[in-house]
Amino acid sequence: MKSDVVIVGGGISGLSLAFYSARAGYKTTLLEKNERIGGSFNSHHCTNGKDAFWLDMGAHTCYNSYQNLLDIVEACHLKEDIIPRAKVPFMLLRDKELKSVFSSLNIFEALRSIPNIFSLKKDGLSVREYYSKIAGENNYNKALSHFFNAVPSQPTDDFPADMMFKSRPKRKEVLKNYTFREGLGSVARAIAKSKGINVFTGQEVTGIERLEGSYVITTKTGMTCTASTLALAAPPQASSRLLQTIEADISRHLGQIESASVDSVGVMVRKEDLAVRPVAAIISPDDIFFSAVSRDTVPHEEYRGFAFHFRPGEHEESKIRRITEVLGISMDKIAHRYDVINTVPSLRVGHRDWLEKIDGMLEGRNLLLTGNYFGGMAIEDCVSRSLSESRRIRKT
Ligand SMILES: Cc1cc2nc3c(=O)[nH]c(=O)nc-3n(C[C@H](O)[C@H](O)[C@H](O)COP(=O)(O)OP(=O)(O)OC[C@H]3O[C@@H](n4cnc5c(N)ncnc54)[C@H](O)[C@@H]3O)c2cc1C
Repeated sequence: MKSDVVIVGGGISGLSLAFYSARAGYKTTLLEKNERIGGSFNSHHCTNGKDAFWLDMGAHTCYNSYQNLLDIVEACHLKEDIIPRAKVPFMLLRDKELKSVFSSLNIFEALRSIPNIFSLKKDGLSVREYYSKIAGENNYNKALSHFFNAVPSQPTDDFPADMMFKSRPKRKEVLKNYTFREGLGSVARAIAKSKGINVFTGQEVTGIERLEGSYVITTKTGMTCTASTLALAAPPQASSRLLQTIEADISRHLGQIESASVDSVGVMVRKEDLAVRPVAAIISPDDIFFSAVSRDTVPHEEYRGFAFHFRPGEHEESKIRRITEVLGISMDKIAHRYDVINTVPSLRVGHRDWLEKIDGMLEGRNLLLTGNYFGGMAIEDCVSRSLSESRRIRKT
């Protein structure tokens, strides 16, 4: 099959790049390894029919500052599906009790430290260096660090502070934070259906060659595509492997980005079986899981759901024991269970130098790279990277 652009990876990075490429009139093919499109946009449907129950196993919240995402949402006629998230709190689990993140803060230490916000710049500082100065070291250790670790489900002390939370211009007419009627997975499905994109799922790309100025892309099932432009939107280690033979320097540079696996287990429980108060998420310091993100933000008549994001490598019995302990239920009360592995980058201070170098290496090539390891791992960071990469597509 011949296309102008072939994109490897069907998460939001690959999908948004496919959207921009097709909109610019390029014949666009997207190849996704899994049978399901969306990557970390994964709204797992646990029941079918009217008012079906779904649970977001990866990304769950969007903000009115996600302007590029909102443009795509509008173009895919999904704006009507934007719904508010119920106002339920993020809770810390301490001594078997749920406590608000704020109640764990020492207010005097916070008041002493907060003026640092006016003099301290995030650039070049790690999450620990920056936030322990503006909130106080004890507050950081006791409360904030656990909250931060829950965001990418891995220790974040050494993450670049400027890539963790960003302030961006907001769209005032849109809800401050929101989700979609059928979860974030519906956004992935809508983009995949948009005009001009040929999507193939169940197609793991295993080989890439250069032939007479074109890229020849082959998949595990034997499918072959050729294109003048290749875009890689898979996690950095996977993209690095694919480039090994055709772009050794870029492959090596990509290989420097480490990633963490997140072992996520989703459970659905009947409402009457749960005593836990409604929450946005449960964060348990120094536990085998980083967070249990709840569906209470979109209340359902019959069920509640939690996506537990575990450290990788935990035993099955430990995971299920911890889920039942935290929720205060016996195993037979779990009405449905779903497991998935997400991959998230482990960004480090100095990442901007890495980024500058990779962009220099890509200059003048028909090779595009996108993903959640460029400006940051928020959804808008992924879409913004895809937008800027789409501007490098040229007709050859
Ligand atoms: C648990 C969790 C919660 C999050 N919550 C939020 C949130 O609420 N808000 C927010 O802004 N961000 C959130 N994020 C971050 C954000 O969701 C991710 O950074 C973003 O969705 C990543 O998209 P991506 O397309 O770059 O990567 P992915 O979603 O990982 O997609 C990469 C795709 O490439 C495919 N692939 C890999 N190798 C190959 C191959 N060889 N051939 C073909 N395909 C291949 C994979 O199967 C996958 O589908 C969350 C992330 C996680 C993990």
